[in-house]
Amino acid sequence: MLELNSISTFYGNIQALHDISLRVEEGEIITLIGANGAGKSTTLMSISGIAPPRTGEILFKGKPIHELSANKIVGLGICQVPEGRHIFPDLTVAENLDMGAFLRSDKKQIEKDLTYIYDLFPILQKRRNQPGGNLSGGEQQMLAISRALMARPQLLLLDEPSMGLAPLVTKQIFDIIKKINREHNTTIFLVEQNANLALKVADRGYVLETGRITLHDKASTLLSNEDVQKAYLGI
Ligand code: ATP
Repeated sequence: MLELNSISTFYGNIQALHDISLRVEEGEIITLIGANGAGKSTTLMSISGIAPPRTGEILFKGKPIHELSANKIVGLGICQVPEGRHIFPDLTVAENLDMGAFLRSDKKQIEKDLTYIYDLFPILQKRRNQPGGNLSGGEQQMLAISRALMARPQLLLLDEPSMGLAPLVTKQIFDIIKKINREHNTTIFLVEQNANLALKVADRGYVLETGRITLHDKASTLLSNEDVQKAYLGI
């Protein structure tokens, strides 16, 4: 579904990604794990067109997307949930969800998707008339994921969904991520610092160190890899 071929991304003179190559197959959950500053967010932003690569190519279903604008990329079915959520705090929950469907005109399907989302996260239905900024951190993460789902993505890019959340809320969100993947037919590219959780939910994983991919394998194999255990799992 998605192919990154030797991409390098820069912020001015600072090179954040060095020749990154990776693949995401349709239907998978893949995870990119790595320390602070390794380049995980930059990888997602390169895919979504926010920080386009300077060299290399990104193919979505075989077609190059690395020169397209971010809104064109959303229109193709790739949606990013950014680190820190970035919901609209002054808009209600329902209005935030409407914003996710901004590029769509299929009203009936939008209604159905809204019902699906309220089934997935009943708390959002309960709070639908409250400003997004009044929600707890976990609820805001649910809203950010839901807003992205309202765009009907084929590929969902999740940046650190566990950030700042209590373990129980994180578990709830990861269970829903699995459910979205299985039931909503959505391929997921998950960036996480919580490598243990991410590798448990993912099919395959990539390890990123200072802007370079150093390892990739089945998630279960990475979980039992001694170097990964030492560096990322605290074992
Ligand atoms: P974290 O887990 O802390 O979010 P990350 O793995 O997502 O880290 P990135 O945020 O992608 O890492 O950062 C990769 C590198 O690019 C870091 O060295 C960072 O300092 C640098 N960087 C990120 N954003 C910018 C920017 N806007 N301008 C300059 N350098 C940046």
